[in-house]
Amino acid sequence: MNLDEYRGIWVYVEVRDGQIAPVSLELLGAGRQMADKRGVPLAGLMIGEGVLPLAESIFPYGADQIYVYDNRIFNDYRTESYMRAVIECALKHKPEIILYGATSTGKDLASAVATDLETGLTADTTMLDVNAETGLLEASRPAFGGNIMATILCKKHRPQMATVRPKVMKALEPDQSRTGEVIEEQISLSEEDIRTKVLKIVRETKEKVRLDEADVIIAGGKGLGSKEGFSLIHRFAAKIGATVGASRDAVEAGWIEHEHQVGQTGVTVTPKVYFAIGISGAIQHLVGMRNSGLIIAINKDPDALIFQSCHYGIVGDAFEIIPMLMEAFQVE
Ligand code: FAD
Repeated sequence: MNLDEYRGIWVYVEVRDGQIAPVSLELLGAGRQMADKRGVPLAGLMIGEGVLPLAESIFPYGADQIYVYDNRIFNDYRTESYMRAVIECALKHKPEIILYGATSTGKDLASAVATDLETGLTADTTMLDVNAETGLLEASRPAFGGNIMATILCKKHRPQMATVRPKVMKALEPDQSRTGEVIEEQISLSEEDIRTKVLKIVRETKEKVRLDEADVIIAGGKGLGSKEGFSLIHRFAAKIGATVGASRDAVEAGWIEHEHQVGQTGVTVTPKVYFAIGISGAIQHLVGMRNSGLIIAINKDPDALIFQSCHYGIVGDAFEIIPMLMEAFQVE
């Protein structure tokens, strides 16, 4: 493989329900920095049905160009059809790097493309950099329970690929004066070429917990003592419009569903404010929330580890402190 043939950085721009996923804009911010460092263009790649009108909206976020596959066959996300478009486009234009959001679609698509192109993929990345000289992607992610950051390199194959967790990169402030080039791509693919069919989409009636997009999270841990004790967290969060998070031990106790779990085997969050209440501060929890803007810990043990990783710590019983906070915030 002649690595020199590959040039430029791409971001897979995910469209959900007619809207660009926030993580794609975050990746354009990270991609812009790398493209400037390396002196190469930054492109988006968008796939879907009826997505063309959205294409130009990524230019204010840093892209120089966008490749668009707007075709009826892409009406629903299916691995087979979407991967064919990414692979065809990558083989034709030869980018050196492709970044995807680590969403369920991004993870599925990236792994299928990497397998087919026989290239490397770093999953769930939290830090990205590029070597200005060689174009080598330096994709880092927590490893060994968050005790080390592993930087993973793909030295011999192109394109180098990574999925990146939502909310760990920052989108650029949109600059409406920025413009770019929309490149419409065609694909010859028919329904007969695709083995899967979407028969019906059943939407969960329950509202999905979007911890990764929350501004304020109130997370509770085993220190709440019981399901009834944990309900205080729900009341506090409901009153101030926050999202409820939890430690794994609270989830395993059956006090709350897994989708609320923050940490290594849960969600990575970066809200503006994170309350850790009755949470000891185990490393597996910390890796999921330590990049929050402001961390406030409440724990009755003054030696709890969480106090080493918070901006403000309140030593005391959660059942006394939370009602006081609710009163201070003038909520019942
Ligand atoms: P505890 O460690 O039991 O802490 C409870 C805290 O509450 C204590 O500090 C105590 O002082 C305090 N407390 C007690 N009563 C009160 C009160 N009335 N008021 C105030 N404070 C009080 N954990 C995660 O959270 N997320 C993960 O994704 C995750 N993934 C893991 C993956 C692996 C492979 C492993 C091995 C572990 C993982 N864990 C994870 C588990 C993690 O190691 C800890 O066991 C867990 O985070 C502890 O939860 P906790 O802080 O709620 O409970």
